[in-house]
Amino acid sequence: MNLQEFWKNALAEIELQISHPNFATWLKSSQLVEKNEGVALVSLPNNFAKNWVETKYHKIILGALRNLDETVKKVEFTVINNQSNGAIKKTPENIAENESGQLVFSEFEVDPETNLNPKYTLSSFVVGRSNELAHAAALAIIQEMGKKYNPFFVYGGVGVGKTHLLQGIGNEIKNKYQDKVKVKYVTSEKFLNEVVWAMRNKRMETIKEKYRLIDALIIDDIQFIGGKQRTEEEFFHTFNALYQNNKQIIVSSDKPPRFIPTLQERLRSRFEGGMIVDIGYPDYELKINIIKNMIEKKSSALSDEVVVVIASKVQKNLRELEGVLNKILFYKNTKKTEISPKMAEQIISETLQKPTLNINPNQIIKVVAEVFGVSLNDLVSRSRKKELTHPRQIAMYLLREVLSLSYPFIGEKIGKRDHTTAIYAYEKISENLNKNAELNQKVLTIKELLGKGD
Ligand code: ADP
Ligand code: MG
Repeated sequence: MNLQEFWKNALAEIELQISHPNFATWLKSSQLVEKNEGVALVSLPNNFAKNWVETKYHKIILGALRNLDETVKKVEFTVINNQSNGAIKKTPENIAENESGQLVFSEFEVDPETNLNPKYTLSSFVVGRSNELAHAAALAIIQEMGKKYNPFFVYGGVGVGKTHLLQGIGNEIKNKYQDKVKVKYVTSEKFLNEVVWAMRNKRMETIKEKYRLIDALIIDDIQFIGGKQRTEEEFFHTFNALYQNNKQIIVSSDKPPRFIPTLQERLRSRFEGGMIVDIGYPDYELKINIIKNMIEKKSSALSDEVVVVIASKVQKNLRELEGVLNKILFYKNTKKTEISPKMAEQIISETLQKPTLNINPNQIIKVVAEVFGVSLNDLVSRSRKKELTHPRQIAMYLLREVLSLSYPFIGEKIGKRDHTTAIYAYEKISENLNKNAELNQKVLTIKELLGKGD
């Protein structure tokens, strides 16, 4: 057995022990360079890959080699950047992607018929532990539209890649089936606006016809549809019409169906009858892979240390991560300088500065007053005007919810009121949050302004 074959057999075993995306990222382009006196020398295409593989997969690799040849006692790693033998060979796919880097404008060209943005593809969607199930389901759906996993419900926090995945599915369906299928992507807000417009203009039939001709309907951020009765009703009918005809329905949300407080039961149970998957927050490894991927796409380069700094400092949100990376690359290009880890840290802390984590009661009162457009004095006054009592109750609710202040303190703070008033306000708002989407949204906005959003 020559070295190449030997390594191929070892890789086959290694592949069983680590996740597919990791294998593809780190080991596909590795080679066995030497096997001599009990030492196996494995090459990786760059320093970064070498360090990574050395620390993470050393044991697995040694085990696999020893299974094939007991005389192997030790593995060492080296960097060989040999493009011609395929070490970092470009596939036609990523060449096309790199070249489309010139077509910067096409990144923003949303197809008006499908509402799909060609920049979000499944091939640029990096797979890791937190999203591999969602990704696998996406692939299955594309193969067997409408049959498998219907409806498909993806949920997850802000910036974890829901829109990217949904758009990627849409683009892939379009590529695969071309004009044979009609795909449409809409945000639930857009759907809502269309329904409102149609109602006003007595054109509901147009909407019905339009949506019922679709083969794959993708609705992003469905949580905003809850509580908007007519829109939800219309969506429900569209849903049923499509579903009964085996058309594919794909939805995303920030939470699972049973936690969308305002969603009607019948729609909720429809979603629960399909496939529900979550996308979690990315782990360190996925962040590293995504950063590398983004850098490559922009045909730029950053040192491994800087990549590590970005992955460790940006906690969960991949949109934030992209923003930080763009800023660093921009800095690098305009200043024509290499980025040191220290500079990266500086840029990151400037970008990610949170409004304030030490919130005090006055800040809450101030933000509530601003959001409702009332004056601070009025908010804490004794006046019982209706336009004041509602924001006042929200302020009390937030003082309790965010700062866990005592009811007597809250009553005193908001216009020298009795503690029972504060209790009543807290309970009333808590209860209404589950029934009233608009109120829910308002409270979330206020929390976000306070830097307490997720
Ligand atoms: P969400 O819709 O969940 O809020 P997005 O889909 O808008 O998140 O993702 C935020 C950003 O992160 C986008 O620019 C997206 O392309 C990028 N992104 C998210 N997940 C991935 C991934 N797995 N691979 C590559 N880029 C990703
Ligand atoms: Mg989104």
